[in-house]
Amino acid sequence: MRDEVDVLIVGGGLVGASLACALGQAGVRTRVVETSPLGGESRSAYDERSIALAQGSQRIFSGLGLWSELESAVCPIHTIHVSDRGHFGFTRLRREQEGVPALGYVAAASVLGDVLARGVARLDAVQFEAPAQLAAFHIDAEGVSAQIEAAGRSSACRARLLVAADGAHSTVRDQLGIRSLRHDYHQSAVVATVGIDRAHEHVAYERFTDSGPLALLPLSEDRMALVWTLRAQDCDAIMELADDAFLERLQERFGYRLGRFTRVGVRRAFPLQLLRAAESIRPRMALVGNAAHTLHPIAGQGFNLGLRDVAALVDVILESRRAGGDFGELAVLRRYARWREADQRRVALFTDSMVRLFGQSLPAVAWLRDAGMLALDLCPPAKRWFGRMTMGRAGRLPRLARGLTVE
Ligand SMILES: Cc1cc2nc3c(=O)[nH]c(=O)nc-3n(C[C@H](O)[C@H](O)[C@H](O)COP(=O)(O)OP(=O)(O)OC[C@H]3O[C@@H](n4cnc5c(N)ncnc54)[C@H](O)[C@@H]3O)c2cc1C
Repeated sequence: MRDEVDVLIVGGGLVGASLACALGQAGVRTRVVETSPLGGESRSAYDERSIALAQGSQRIFSGLGLWSELESAVCPIHTIHVSDRGHFGFTRLRREQEGVPALGYVAAASVLGDVLARGVARLDAVQFEAPAQLAAFHIDAEGVSAQIEAAGRSSACRARLLVAADGAHSTVRDQLGIRSLRHDYHQSAVVATVGIDRAHEHVAYERFTDSGPLALLPLSEDRMALVWTLRAQDCDAIMELADDAFLERLQERFGYRLGRFTRVGVRRAFPLQLLRAAESIRPRMALVGNAAHTLHPIAGQGFNLGLRDVAALVDVILESRRAGGDFGELAVLRRYARWREADQRRVALFTDSMVRLFGQSLPAVAWLRDAGMLALDLCPPAKRWFGRMTMGRAGRLPRLARGLTVE
C-alpha cells in the first residue's frame, strides 16, 4: 500500500467506490479504506436489495464507462404510477412525455457493487483496502495523516484530502464534531423481492397507504423490488410473519394491479431517518453520500444524490489540479459545498415533504393531497418539474452528470 496519496476515501460503499473510480480514471492517486468487502451482498434472485437509478445516474455511469456492463443487468422503468390507497388521486409519469428512453433503472445493489469493484480493480491509481478501517486521523495545514488498520496490522497514510464516504453513522463526521440535523421518522422500510403472476410492463408503483408508502419497482423475470414503509412499532410483527401471511398482507395493502404476489425472498428492515450534516467541508476534508445526507427512501433519491456529490467533487478536484492548485484547500472545497448545497437541500426537503404530506390521515389533508396529484397529472409543466426531480436533472450539472468522461 502507498503511504502517500492524493485522496484518502473512508468508506468504499456505493458512493465511495464511485468516487474512487472517477478519481482513478483521472490518475488521482487514491486509497480507499472499507470495513467490509464490496460485492458481499447475497446473490440469489430473490434475496437482493435493489436501487432505483435516476436518468442522471445512468449518465454518470456512462461517463465512468461502466454503463455497458450494467445495462444488461438493470430493468428500465417506462412509467411511474403514484396513487393514494382508498382515495381518488393518482398521477402517472411516462417516458414518452419526458422524451427519454427510461424514467430510471432498477439495479440490484450487489450488481452495482460488483461493477464498481471491477472498475476500481482496473485502475492502477486506486488502492482499495477491505476489510480495513480508519483507526485515527489528524488534519494539519498541508494534509491529513491517518492510521489504518487491516488484518491486525496498522499502517500510516498521508493524503492531501480526506473524503468521508462512511455512511449515516460517519465516524469522520462525528470525530470532527460536525453537527447534524436529524429527524427520526419512527418508521422502518421492509425490503424484499417479490414474484408476480402478471407482466409488470416496466411500471414502477408508489402507493401511499395509511400506514406508510409502499413502492414496487420492476425487475427482470416478473419480479418486483418491494420497499414497504411501516410504523416502527408495526415492523417486527410484519417481519415475523410466515411468507404466505406476509404476501397476503401485502396483497391487501397493494391490491391486484399486478395480479397475485407469488413468492417473497429474504426480508430486511431498515430504520428510517433524515440526516443532514451542518457542514459538508472542513480544510482538507469533504463529506459525500449518506455521511452528508441520509434520506427517507420514499422517492428513491439517496444514492442518486450521493452520486451527484461525487460528480461535483471530481469536477472541483480536477479543475483545481489543472490550474496547478491544491484541492485540499478550503477555498477550493467551498466550491464543492456551494455547488451541492441547493440540490441537497431541495431533494431533502422534497423527500421529507412527501413523507409528511402522505403521512397525514386527516380527511381535509387527504383531499388536498389527492387534488394535488390530479392537478399534477393534468398540468404538464408541474409534471415535468416532478419528472426532473425524480430523474435527477435539476440544477447545473457537472461533467459526469452530463454523461461526459471525467476529463
Ligand atoms: C430501504 C432503502 C431503499 C433505498 N432505495 C434507494 C433507491 O431506490 N435509490 C437511491 O438512489 N437510493 C436508495 N436508497 C439510499 C441508498 O441506499 C444510500 O443512499 C446509499 O447506499 C448510500 O451509499 P454510501 O456509500 O454513501 O453509504 P453506505 O452505503 O452506508 O456506505 C458506507 C460505507 O462505509 C463503510 N464504513 C463505515 N465506517 C467506516 C470506517 N470507519 N472505516 C472504513 N469504512 C467504513 C461501511 O462499511 C459502508 O460500506 C435506499 C435506502 C434504503 C434504506
